[in-house]
Amino acid sequence: MDPNGGKKGMFNKLGRKEAILRLEQESFNRVTVSFYRYIIIENVESFRDKLYSEWKSLSAYGRIYLAKEGVNAQMSVPEHNWDKFVENLNSYDVLKDIPFKIAVEDDGKSFFKLTIKVRNQIVADGLSENDYDVTNVGKHLGAREWNEAIENGATVVDMRNHYESEIGKFKGAICPEVETFKEELPLVKEMLNGKENEQVLLYCTGGIRCEKASAYLKNYGFNNVSQLHGGIIDYVRQIKEDNKIQNKFLGKNFVFDERRGERISSDVISNCHQCGETCDIHTNCRNVNCNLLFLQCQKCKDKHESCCSVECIEVANMSEDQRKKLRKGVENKKIYYSHKKVKLNLKE
Ligand SMILES: [Zn+2]
Ligand SMILES: [Zn+2]
Repeated sequence: MDPNGGKKGMFNKLGRKEAILRLEQESFNRVTVSFYRYIIIENVESFRDKLYSEWKSLSAYGRIYLAKEGVNAQMSVPEHNWDKFVENLNSYDVLKDIPFKIAVEDDGKSFFKLTIKVRNQIVADGLSENDYDVTNVGKHLGAREWNEAIENGATVVDMRNHYESEIGKFKGAICPEVETFKEELPLVKEMLNGKENEQVLLYCTGGIRCEKASAYLKNYGFNNVSQLHGGIIDYVRQIKEDNKIQNKFLGKNFVFDERRGERISSDVISNCHQCGETCDIHTNCRNVNCNLLFLQCQKCKDKHESCCSVECIEVANMSEDQRKKLRKGVENKKIYYSHKKVKLNLKE
């Protein structure tokens, strides 16, 4: 399926390579920003088309999800068009004064095209309407209050997926071994069994997942649920602005763009998936038929030719025609590394 909904004429036809090259040749800076809001959007498709043409004319890139329940966007906007972009957002009631999260470690190379997708939900949670009440969410905590709650012994839960928490997390946080938010919610409910009256702290990348997770837990009898306001992104902004607030986040914050992760503290908490050395650098397997995302240290990168397995080295070194033949009918893995699914097969 065409991710842009079949309207090819209107959308970006540039290939990936050309798009990356175009980005690299830009002479201006970009601001990496994310924002979300739960709001009712009528006529999602026509709203998408409108935003696409307006944002495209501002050379904004990014990945945006639109649904009847709201908007969830990660974008990069040319610095010189930033004011116009904000003006554009403010011209819509549903986007007016939407809170921004601006990335800290930012070279502006986070996206190389604009994609706006229409979805049923902005966060796939698999919940039914009876599972939560959006008007009854957890208490939002700023960085200072968040630290205090941790010091007071609250239970901290990472609401992200395993490949995100693997490279960075709050010290002592529970990090469920899950690949989707959908499977995480019931699991967390189970893990917290017995803590209904204790303080529970939830966090995620930008706060959007906790909005639903906290409503869900409260609906199931957890009485003292709080969530990190604006997620890790805004926590980092706050500790950078006020050096009296101590950083309690270890390692890197995983991000879904070309950067893969931004470093928050110098701790490296994960290991190379091939040799086990300390490493928190994500790589996509060089075999494009595989494309697996995994942690690979520089030594292994050299030794295994940027591949995840012996088979992939073989395929990666084939001609494009041979590779295409092999690929025919086989679904691209493209999945992220999972402890459950993947055993890396190495050459000695
Ligand atoms: Zn290694
Ligand atoms: Zn591979």
